[in-house]
Amino acid sequence: MGLTPPPNHTQGMGPVFAWPVRPKGAFYVSAGYLDPNYKRRFGVPHTGEDWNLRTGGDSDLGYPVQAIFPGRVVAAGYYRVWGNLVVVEADPWVKDFWAERLGEPLEALYARYAHLHHLTVARGDRVEANDHLGSIGKGDGGRYLAHLHLDFPRLPIPPEAYPSQEAQVRAQYLDPARVWRALAFGDRSNLLPQGPLYAPARLFVGDAEALQGPLLLRQVGDKLYARSDA
Ligand SMILES: [Zn+2]
Repeated sequence: MGLTPPPNHTQGMGPVFAWPVRPKGAFYVSAGYLDPNYKRRFGVPHTGEDWNLRTGGDSDLGYPVQAIFPGRVVAAGYYRVWGNLVVVEADPWVKDFWAERLGEPLEALYARYAHLHHLTVARGDRVEANDHLGSIGKGDGGRYLAHLHLDFPRLPIPPEAYPSQEAQVRAQYLDPARVWRALAFGDRSNLLPQGPLYAPARLFVGDAEALQGPLLLRQVGDKLYARSDA
């Protein structure tokens, strides 16, 4: 499966869509779009999805994050509460393609990747799908268990914006779960190379079934050991 670009789109050889973290099956969404549990806990509506490694805790700290779609980096920096974040504005054909699949017009389309541990892109950079953006982190001051916060602003809004009302979230952000369904993203991007694990001295230990992929260095029993220079 996976995306087929519009017939008149002249793209290079790169993928047109990539899951931001992989293998996808190693991750789960701990808080979804407008998740009622999130609202109860933090007092504000959730604008997107929180992705975590199934191995839990901070096991995903330093794990590579890649761009979902091609576009231009319109923000890359450190913000209060958020920590490091990257906002990529989708190429026009991506926006049009998503709008067609979602069955409604989109004024704009961005992907915001937040709480990153480190950044490998800067404002103004051009990125293709699957380009390394940085790694999973813990937010400003290490306030969260490591996870990737991902949302899809559909209007030009400040990079650090966070609405307090559900109606604003509905007006300003796409529901990622709806996007995944509408675009029928497949798992082919699991086969793409990933960016490096960031914490170079740190061995990553995980469940063998969850962590198959290009980061594999060696397997001991049912544990996989991988590291950034793999
Ligand atoms: Zn979040």
